[in-house]
Amino acid sequence: METVAPYKEIIDVIKASGGDAFKRCFQCGLCDVVCPWNRVRTFSMRKIVREATFGLTEIESEDIWRCTTCGRCPQQCPRDVKQIDSGVALRRVATEYGVFPKAVKAVRTVSASLSDEGNPLGEEREKRANWAEGLSVKPFTEGMEICYFPGCYLSYDARLKKVARATATILNRAGVDFGILGSKENCCGESIRKTGDEALFKRLARENIKTFIDNGVKKILVSSPHCYHTFKNEYPEFRVNFEVVHISQYLFELVSAGRLEFTKEYGKKVTYHDPCYLGRHNGIYDEPRGC
Ligand code: SF4
Ligand code: SF4
Repeated sequence: METVAPYKEIIDVIKASGGDAFKRCFQCGLCDVVCPWNRVRTFSMRKIVREATFGLTEIESEDIWRCTTCGRCPQQCPRDVKQIDSGVALRRVATEYGVFPKAVKAVRTVSASLSDEGNPLGEEREKRANWAEGLSVKPFTEGMEICYFPGCYLSYDARLKKVARATATILNRAGVDFGILGSKENCCGESIRKTGDEALFKRLARENIKTFIDNGVKKILVSSPHCYHTFKNEYPEFRVNFEVVHISQYLFELVSAGRLEFTKEYGKKVTYHDPCYLGRHNGIYDEPRGC
């Protein structure tokens, strides 16, 4: 089996990258039972943990990239192995050695786009606020009620731009005094951190934090559960604390305060999918259901 360093050394590298909790695993296999990946592909978090514990990880293998960080198995683990953090530690090692299997080579392109343009999609920074064309959306200025941060996909993706536009329309209807940062926004950095690129995450986070502070932002409204997670739980690592609210929470707040009213019934059945990073990672289940 090929590894990037002798066994003992790779164990030390994994530990130094944050994967020390692997050693607590007693191979019960509960993580594999609940993992949604197992229903569609052969994938075993238990195997990844066992190999890492003995320094047998094939850093160049696709397996260390399969976990979507959905948050299901850490809730089940009786030994608090912290599978997500430990798994990201392996990706940090791969990133450090510059070893990416064919299936994830696109990480390099994504990283370059994040570095150059502040988004993973290869889009121009200057076009970041184009989603708002024709709407009454102002640049954020200090003293406004809230700063709306649509995030990368809602800013650029043709279908998702409609969500950003609908959000702005609702905020205007409710009389919310809000603004956006437009081309001054960067990707929040949550996903690139999960690929193990800690340096790029820190750079994106620091730039965003500086922008928030320079523009007097105190309360941030987000559409993406990933932006929510990282602003709320990871940016405080930089000794800052912004008030962060997800759109589902904010709409619930507006409706409860009588600032937004329903004028008619929506005559269709709707299935709501709890996003991993809103539900499991942050415990927000009630507000999206309006209770
Ligand atoms: S659930 Fe925890 S202890 Fe059990 S195999 Fe998975 S990582 Fe190891
Ligand atoms: S966190 Fe990763 S390994 Fe665990 S259940 Fe979700 S996808 Fe599977």
